[in-house]
Formats: sequence, C-alpha cells, structure tokens
Amino acid sequence: MYRQRSEPGHLSSAFLKLPDTLLLVFDREGRLRLVSDAWEEALGFSLAELRQQSFFDLLFEGDRDDCVRRLSGMGPGQLTLRFASRCCRKGGGYLGVVWNLTYDVDEALFYASAHETAVHLSSEEAHLPDVFVDGLTGLPNRSLFLDRLEHTLHRAERRPDTRFAVLHCGIDRFKVINHSLGHRMGDLLLMSVANLIRNTIRPTDMVARLAGDEFGILLEDIRDVSSTLHVVHRIQNKLQLPFTLNGHEVFATVSFGIVASSPEYRQADVMLRDANLAMVGAKEQGGGAYMVFNKDMHDQAVRRLELEMDLRHALERGEFEAYYQPIVDLRQGSLAGFEALVRWNHPVRGLVSPLEFVPVAEETGLIVPLGRWMLYEACRQLQIWRTRLPGAERLSVSVNLSSKQIMHVQLLGHVQEALARSGLPPTALKLEITESALMQDADRAIALLEALKAQGIRILLDDFGTGYSSLSYLHRLPIDTLKVDRSFVRHLHERETDRHFVETIVHLAQRLRQEVVCEGVERPEQAAILKAMGVGYTQGFLYSRPVAAHEAQMLILTGLEPGGA
Ligand code: C2E
Ligand code: MG
Ligand code: MG
Repeated sequence: MYRQRSEPGHLSSAFLKLPDTLLLVFDREGRLRLVSDAWEEALGFSLAELRQQSFFDLLFEGDRDDCVRRLSGMGPGQLTLRFASRCCRKGGGYLGVVWNLTYDVDEALFYASAHETAVHLSSEEAHLPDVFVDGLTGLPNRSLFLDRLEHTLHRAERRPDTRFAVLHCGIDRFKVINHSLGHRMGDLLLMSVANLIRNTIRPTDMVARLAGDEFGILLEDIRDVSSTLHVVHRIQNKLQLPFTLNGHEVFATVSFGIVASSPEYRQADVMLRDANLAMVGAKEQGGGAYMVFNKDMHDQAVRRLELEMDLRHALERGEFEAYYQPIVDLRQGSLAGFEALVRWNHPVRGLVSPLEFVPVAEETGLIVPLGRWMLYEACRQLQIWRTRLPGAERLSVSVNLSSKQIMHVQLLGHVQEALARSGLPPTALKLEITESALMQDADRAIALLEALKAQGIRILLDDFGTGYSSLSYLHRLPIDTLKVDRSFVRHLHERETDRHFVETIVHLAQRLRQEVVCEGVERPEQAAILKAMGVGYTQGFLYSRPVAAHEAQMLILTGLEPGGA
C-alpha cells in the first residue's frame, strides 16, 4: 500500500470511515492530524468542528491534567498506554472511553483508538469521582470491563474468526490475609497483585478489578485456550516469589476460571458468570489452580439453582419427612432413643439425601424454618411413642442443629415452642451440634447452650474428631456427649491407630464426665471393640438404617436385632 511519509500513513482512509471505529492521530501538542468519521456520531460535533479542536479539548476538563501527565511519560521507553477518560459531547453530557495509545517515535505522533463505554454521563455525573476506574488499584472497574467485553463480543459477531478469552481470578484466602495482617496490608496486596497482572498481560489486553479480591482479564486475539494457559502460568510463576509489603513477606496464590469465546456467547455478563463458576471450581481444589469452564459446570449450576427453587416450596408442600435411626445402649444392649434425620421426598427425583440439600438450605437460610419443623416433628413423634408404647417412656430423640440455626436469635424460642406444643419433657430431647457451628461465635454459642442445658435439654457434639477445635477448649463447652465421627469407626477392627484414637476419647470423656456415642457401626466386631473400651452408646447400619416413623415404631415394639437391619 502506498504511504505518504509526510502524512500519518499508518491508517488508510477506508479505515477512518468504518462505523464504530474511534481513531485519532495527534502530535505531542495535541494537534489532531486525523479524526475518524465515527467521532461525529459519538460526540455530536461535525468533523470540521472536531478538526479545529486539540486532543485535550476533547477531554472533560477534570481528566485533562491526568492525561497530559500520562502522555508526557510516553516516548522510546514507553510506546503504549491504556487509560480511561471522559470526552465532552456537544450540547453537554459526557462520553466515557478507554484509550489505547501507541506512540510512533519516528513521526512523534500518537495513534489513539478508543473503546466507547456505554455510559453517557450528564454534566452533574461527570463531577463524581471517576466511575470507570477502581480507586485503589487504578484498574478499570467491573462496568468498564463488561463494557469492553460487550464491544469485543460485537466485534466477534462481525468477524467470527475472532478468538478471545475471559478469566475471572481471585486471591485465595484473601479474607484471612486481610484479617490477620490488617486491611492496610490487604490493600497493598491487592495493589501488588493488580500490578503483577497488568505487567504480565499484553498492553492490548485488559485487566479490571471486579470486586473485593477478584479481577477480570480479557485476552483478545488469542490463538486458542492454550495461549490463555500461558498467561495463567506466567502469573502463577511470578506469584512464586513473595510480595514485600511494609517490610513483611507475603505469599499469595490466585485461582483462575477461564471461558473461551464461542458463538453461543452474546452477553458479557453471561460470559463473566461462567468464568466465575469455573473460578469457584478452581478454588475448591485448594487454591492456586485454574479451571476451564465447560458445560457440565453450567448444568451443575442449573441443577443447584433448580434444587434451591424446589427447596423453597418443599416445606409448604409437606415434602419433608423425619426418619429415625436407633441409638443403642451398649451396656444394656437396648434401644436408648433415636436420631431424627430429615428426608426430602422430591416429587420428581424421589428421596434426596440431606448431604445434598442441607448445605443448600443452610446457604439460603431455609434451614431455619426447616430446622424448626424438624424440631417440632421429632418431639411430637417421640411424645406419641412415649405415651402410647410400653417401655418407650425412657427413649430420647436427638435433633441436628445447623450453625445458621444456632446463630438465629429465636432458636431458644423455637425449642421451647416444640416442647410446649408436643408435651415432650426437655430431658427427652437432645440437640446435636458440630464444632464448626460453635466456632463461628463461641461465646454466644456457649451462652445459648448453657440456657438450653438449664432447661434439662442435653447437648451432643456431632462428628467429633473431624473439626479443628483444640482439646483444651473442650472443657469450656457445656457438652454432655461426644459423638465420635464414623470415619474413626470404619476401620476400628483393622487399624490400631483408630482404636487408640477412640480409646483416648473415651478416657477424655470420662474425665470430663461426658458420654460417648460412636456413629457408623456396621460390623459386630466394631460393636464388640467399642463395648470393651467402655463406649456407652452406638449407632449404625449394624442395628438399623434411618427408617420412617412407622418402621421405627416396629423397632420399639419388637426390639433391636443387631445385624438384622
Ligand atoms: P449426621 O448428623 O452425622 O448423621 C449421621 C449420618 O450418618 C446419617 O446420614 C446416617 O444415615 C449416616 N449413618 C448412620 N449410620 C451409618 C453407618 O453405619 N454407615 C454409614 N455409612 N452411614 C451411617 P444422613 O441421614 O444422610 O445425614 C447426613 C447429614 O445431614 C447428617 O450427619 C447431618 O449433618 C445432616 N442432617 C440430617 N438431618 C438433618 C437435620 O434435620 N438438620 C440438620 N441441620 N442437619 C441434618
Ligand atoms: Mg447428627
Ligand atoms: Mg455425625
């Protein structure tokens, strides 16, 4: 192509006429040498009017000084620059743009392309702090990122061979860093990671701060996903070295979720959502990992959402049912009571395991009404058995409480309500809690347990041995019974270490005057070992699986036959 040396010849005139293509060429004084036609529509000035202005005249005055400063730094040592600013529109109002600048040293000219951001500000809004740039890191923010991504998607629609990728990344365990080292250090770490990413990607790619410790990266014009992985590896390699923040060395790892462009993606937020899903998956691998989004992840997320929706109606539709698993008094060889375990009779899926829906119910807060229902249902059922069946008056029932319930201000009220409505004496009710639920706010939890105990209700520590709490802490907790997790029982008959573990717990419990229940007893040998160790109570498939109320009633009437279940 013929090029005139005296003219800024890198741009052909056809290029200047393309719709939506905002290009400018200007010299170091800001004098405009070329203006593409699209500016007319974008700013409302005619081309003739535009050509009379300088580059700096186009900018909103609040952004001018910053821009002059940035441009003055460009030269042989810095040939490219990207930044956000606002341009004045004719008749008032402003247009937000991101500039991609390249400096041509030979010609001493700036070649600027601008991505328009959809936000058209009124004059008043323009006086607000920069709405596109994150104040802490100086990176573009989420709305600017989405906007640029929207542009990229539009471009890809016109040019289907365009390939790009979106990365959603988050600093692993950032909250811990923030809490343990302080917010100032947290901020420094965010700035350092922001810089590291910015310096690792190409100037034409974009990194933005999406929220908190999360960043978005848009990689344009990539060959395939493997070029994306190169970027991930480069960032991860750099993170092998610690950051020095205020004289402290801090290591950080980052998890990445990756989405590659595909014709199915038409919306920026959908693409970012999928990248986020993949990042959550990467985080579950323990940090410092990446995951490429695939359809399974999407399906899983949809299933989870459906589950959540169904769960919202399950209570009012009466789809929950309490199952009962016997707890056996090892010394007497008799039935001591039941653990109430919730079951969900899903209209389409059948019986759904609590392992699947209890965590969802906890996250959505539905566990509070569900738990309240279980409390009442278990108390009601046991009271019926106690008053109607011979020998049943000494039985007790254990109900599981989740951390959300323990934190709920009305828990005490819900327990009292269940007892009052059912007529069950408080001494027949036990509540199972886990260590992790207690740890969230130990002082509050202890006060609550004291209040429950004062009424005669007994407290069990469920899944004991799987939590993080220190043993020294145990005597502070108003606990009546330790319920040893079934992972310690499973290999009891074949592993000496597990036997030592359970034995130690039995000694500890004796010292603290607590009872021990072992869960997950499946074999007669296990029961025999536990009995010899002095364990008071067991529970497991050896005696019975959790069963519906009418079957539990049969167990009360006929007695237990170990192994017969
Ligand atoms: P968990 O409280 O530790 O309950 C014991 C779990 O172990 C039950 O699973 C029970 O079926 C299972 N299990 C009992 N004996 C054996 C055995 O010998 N072998 C094996 N392999 N498993 C045994 P389930 O009913 O699926 O409940 C799972 C968890 O869901 C419970 O663990 C509890 O954390 C939670 N959950 C169940 N019902 C409720 C509820 O009403 N409220 C709350 N908050 N959580 C509940
Ligand atoms: Mg339990
Ligand atoms: Mg348990």
